[in-house]
Amino acid sequence: MSYQAPLRDMRFVLHELFDVSAHCELLGNGLDRELIDGVLDEAARYTGEVVAPLNRNSDEEGCRLQDGAVTTPQGFRDAYRQFVDNGWASMNGPVEFGGQGFPQLVSASFHEMLMASSLSFRIYSGLTEGAVLALHKHGSEALKADYLSKMVSGEWTGTMCLTEPQAGTDLALLRTKAEPQADGSYKVSGNKIFISGGEQDLTDNIVHLVLARLPDAPAGVKGISLLLVPKFVANADGSLAAKNALSCGAIEHKMGIKGASTCVMNFDGATGWLIGEANQGLACMFTMMNDARFQVGLQGLAIAEAAFQGGLRYARERLQSRGLAGAVQPDKAADPIIVHPDVRRMLLTQKTLTEGSRMLAAYCARQLDLEHGHPDAAARKAAGKRAALLIPIVKAFFTDMGQEVASLGVQLYGGHGFIREWGMEQLMRDSRITQLYEGTNGIQALDLIRRKLLGDGGAELSALQAEFSALCDQQLDRPALRGLAQTVQARLGEWRELSSEVIAASQRDVQEIGAMSVDFLAYSSYVLLAGLWLQAAARAQDALDAGTGETAFYQAKLHSAEFFVRRVLPRASGHREALLGGAACLMAMPEDSFAL
Ligand SMILES: Cc1cc2nc3c(=O)[nH]c(=O)nc-3n(C[C@H](O)[C@H](O)[C@H](O)COP(=O)(O)OP(=O)(O)OC[C@H]3O[C@@H](n4cnc5c(N)ncnc54)[C@H](O)[C@@H]3O)c2cc1C
Repeated sequence: MSYQAPLRDMRFVLHELFDVSAHCELLGNGLDRELIDGVLDEAARYTGEVVAPLNRNSDEEGCRLQDGAVTTPQGFRDAYRQFVDNGWASMNGPVEFGGQGFPQLVSASFHEMLMASSLSFRIYSGLTEGAVLALHKHGSEALKADYLSKMVSGEWTGTMCLTEPQAGTDLALLRTKAEPQADGSYKVSGNKIFISGGEQDLTDNIVHLVLARLPDAPAGVKGISLLLVPKFVANADGSLAAKNALSCGAIEHKMGIKGASTCVMNFDGATGWLIGEANQGLACMFTMMNDARFQVGLQGLAIAEAAFQGGLRYARERLQSRGLAGAVQPDKAADPIIVHPDVRRMLLTQKTLTEGSRMLAAYCARQLDLEHGHPDAAARKAAGKRAALLIPIVKAFFTDMGQEVASLGVQLYGGHGFIREWGMEQLMRDSRITQLYEGTNGIQALDLIRRKLLGDGGAELSALQAEFSALCDQQLDRPALRGLAQTVQARLGEWRELSSEVIAASQRDVQEIGAMSVDFLAYSSYVLLAGLWLQAAARAQDALDAGTGETAFYQAKLHSAEFFVRRVLPRASGHREALLGGAACLMAMPEDSFAL
């Protein structure tokens, strides 16, 4: 399956919807349109020509573990070397440690391309970037001096070691221990499972960020500390000491992302150092979690784009049956399946969910950039709140959407979708993990209501709704867009009412939070995407009114917006009704009655 970066759509989102040049000027990073476009072109070449060709083989070959060493699939080492040598690894890294300081609004496009080309390949570098954030923000100067530059450049990777056999979602159950030593270091002992990239053959060193308990730590999440535990301790002169007391005990055999090693890691008194204060590990880890959750959201988007490209290609080539209203291509044995309304329904569902999510990803990326880089402190705080509200939506909705779009990819190919050689079944298998790791999607939905909505009495969500409503108002007077704008405006009003009902129900009965959460997240996501589709339609109409050429591209945006609002947005009604169905019907049945 070949992949081509959707450059035209990415440029539409970056330049026409979000004015990335003005964004970069505000952040003062010296990037202009020409440079950004040049980077995207080169990113498309690297991902399409170097990474994408490895994807299928990496799925078949997988990773191998022998004598504690992991061998990654053929081609990964060379592609990773290019990733480091050509500066892709350091794109977002802090400038003072050799990074290039690219804003997320730009790098998200590259990361989407990379993940669409090979999700497995991206896993190794993805967590390194989160680890860099946590170390940069919370690490001591000495630790930063020894480890950060090489992690920023990609010469060393980073991992995130949270999960243990008995502690998945509930990190309060962690048992890994860290014993203080006279020299200020710690000896870390315990077993971690499911550690992405815990062992690999791409880099000389791997820097593990490990959650563990100090001897006198309070029980629960308030007693968790974050430690840096390298595979090889770095000497002051940059050379590496003998191997630390840690090892990869096994690698998992999985449903998908088979080219990414998922490791059981044993720490046997390994030397490590605290990052941040003792017992503040979870707070430090949250620094990287927001980034990691945004990145996992992008994984859903990337898989969706790849599945859409495959589905579209096949729908144009595959000849089966005649169109309902008669032959469309009478010179052929049958019409291509793209003439059939149901095939178009699948393709347009894929296209509008994918492009809609790309717009929301950019909206969220902009907030993340402003949170860290806006010159004004109040604006940084405001952007941080907006990003925090959006992160669970981006993580959960995009990954559910990615799985749906991948499944539609299989469906579009008919029986061939089930067969390996076409690539659709791999996308479906690869994307399934995105709904599970970095906090399952159920946990994201709980986070949305419990921390983000109830946390401030709905104030931030209300501000977001008001912003979307004001943008919608601007389109009500334009004859070509009035119908769409009215429908979106009505939904935004319904969303406001529903949010108040969700808050009231949560206060009445705490079980309602868990009962409503998944449907509320989905409802909110569809309305947000509808608001963004209206904006896309408005920009497309502006371009058509101005006669700037590319009529087909902008007309397609108008068609897509119409389809999304008429045929996808109505799903919100189902989620609304379901959540209003209440918690009682979930909780009333005694546990014994589930199987009688
Ligand atoms: C391929 C792969 C890579 C991974 N990479 C890493 C990694 O690099 N580092 C790392 O630390 N971990 C990693 N993980 C672990 C992953 O993050 C966890 O599997 C995930 O957080 C869920 O934990 P669990 O598997 O123990 O499920 P559980 O926590 O046991 O959850 C089981 C089910 O119960 C639900 N549930 C649990 N608690 C609640 C609740 N309070 N309310 C409602 N529902 C609830 C969950 O949503 C889920 O549906 C990886 C896992 C895999 C499979």
